[in-house]
Amino acid sequence: MQNDGYECIIIGAGVAGITAAVELAKAKKRVLLLESKSYIGGRARSFTDTTTGETIDNGQHVLMGCYTSLLSVLKELRTEQLLIKQSTLTVNFIDSKGQRDLLDTSKFPGKTGVAFGIANLRNISWKSKFHALKLAIRLQLGTFSTKNLTAQDFLKKYNQPQEIIERFWNPIILATLNSTPHQAAASLLVEVLRLAFFGERDASQILIPSVGLSALFDTFPQWLEQHGGSLLLGTTVDKIEIKNGAISGITTSRGEHFKAKTIITALPPKQLLKILPIELQSHEKFSALHKYQFSPIVSVYLWYDRAWCDIDFAAMLGTTTQWVFNRRKIIPHDNSLQVKYPGHISLTVSAGNELIESSPEQVVMLCNEELKSAFPEFANAELQAWKVIKEKSATFLSTPTMEMQRIPTKTFISNLFLAGDWTDTKLPATLEGAAQSGKYAAHFVSDLLQKR
Ligand SMILES: Cc1cc2nc3c(=O)[nH]c(=O)nc-3n(C[C@H](O)[C@H](O)[C@H](O)COP(=O)(O)OP(=O)(O)OC[C@H]3O[C@@H](n4cnc5c(N)ncnc54)[C@H](O)[C@@H]3O)c2cc1C
Repeated sequence: MQNDGYECIIIGAGVAGITAAVELAKAKKRVLLLESKSYIGGRARSFTDTTTGETIDNGQHVLMGCYTSLLSVLKELRTEQLLIKQSTLTVNFIDSKGQRDLLDTSKFPGKTGVAFGIANLRNISWKSKFHALKLAIRLQLGTFSTKNLTAQDFLKKYNQPQEIIERFWNPIILATLNSTPHQAAASLLVEVLRLAFFGERDASQILIPSVGLSALFDTFPQWLEQHGGSLLLGTTVDKIEIKNGAISGITTSRGEHFKAKTIITALPPKQLLKILPIELQSHEKFSALHKYQFSPIVSVYLWYDRAWCDIDFAAMLGTTTQWVFNRRKIIPHDNSLQVKYPGHISLTVSAGNELIESSPEQVVMLCNEELKSAFPEFANAELQAWKVIKEKSATFLSTPTMEMQRIPTKTFISNLFLAGDWTDTKLPATLEGAAQSGKYAAHFVSDLLQKR
């Protein structure tokens, strides 16, 4: 590998770093991407479960039609077709007593379909639905304020009855913001609703990977090489070096030194702090880096002796479990797995603080019980295997205070740019937030290189 200076060094090969590399390589810039792990994908990755031999993710991920930055990367990598796309947004809701409801938006395209779907929810009163639709109109007209409000304050301010908060808004908030309605910034909820639910025609479409998450990025290393870039796995950056007020390069934990004209860091805040030069770690412009807090996601994978119901996925109401996915239905699998474990389900608990200290056995027992009481026809199913994954720092905690302090991509050091789902994209910490941050950073780098 040449070390005669790269046009850009990108640190961290999660979705943000991969997107930045794709954007820059497409613009014919010479990039070097450094990743400390032996694999790419960061917080969006899959692996083989040792008990069952099944490929599972570090947590079930769901994408939406409005994920334009990420989808354009997957298109470039020719893996977009590995996503299963709903033709229109359809969501089953199931409460702890097994009572079911359906958000079916297929009658009309885009936001009209979503409004129609809300109006047709069966288990929510007309009064509540009327207030929800009134809020949707406000969002279209821009006649609302989110300043300093949590999602809960915002919903109350705009007259949403508790019934529709619990049965409709809360599942959306937990799934998209990974924070409770009492914690989450209202501005982010509004962004999600405007972009995804009441946005462009296919924006609300749900997309679920039909493969392990890592397979979405399998073609990336070769793609990067073909586009003149380099990827170094198992390479931890130890320090970013600064000389005469500009970044000059980086040093790895093995003592290698790489020069670069520009640097994009695509790391979580804590890891970024560790590698910043000392004088930047304590600089007031980076002080918010010390303030980010994190929220966990607990994911539970269960294997049963019989197939689960016909549903692809559902929101669960009034239970600790929030979302349930029928992986046997969604994900193509070997026949031998189907025979051995006919039922395979994953459950998600976002903002899962109450489970984080519980033992995996306790988590499994609770989820198994909740699943069986919500789906009585499944009550006799026997659990054969399980896996609990606790991601303690799954995403940053998006409170109204934090929203005002998120750090932008462009820094006061002219050739240092920050990417990552926590940077100030005005989006929640999602795959799309990460991809957009990478795209912004690549755009700034291209601009700077052009000027030189
Ligand atoms: C369980 C779970 C479920 C989720 N569900 C969804 C979902 O359904 N939909 C959705 O849109 N989003 C979801 N997310 C969020 C999404 O996964 C993240 O927002 C996104 O993956 C973050 O990408 P990133 O590139 O910003 O950061 P990361 O993925 O954290 O990437 C940072 C990379 O930097 C590397 N690194 C760290 N330090 C160094 C160093 N010193 N030198 C070199 N490399 C280094 C790390 O190894 C890592 O690969 C979920 C997240 C989790 C954890």
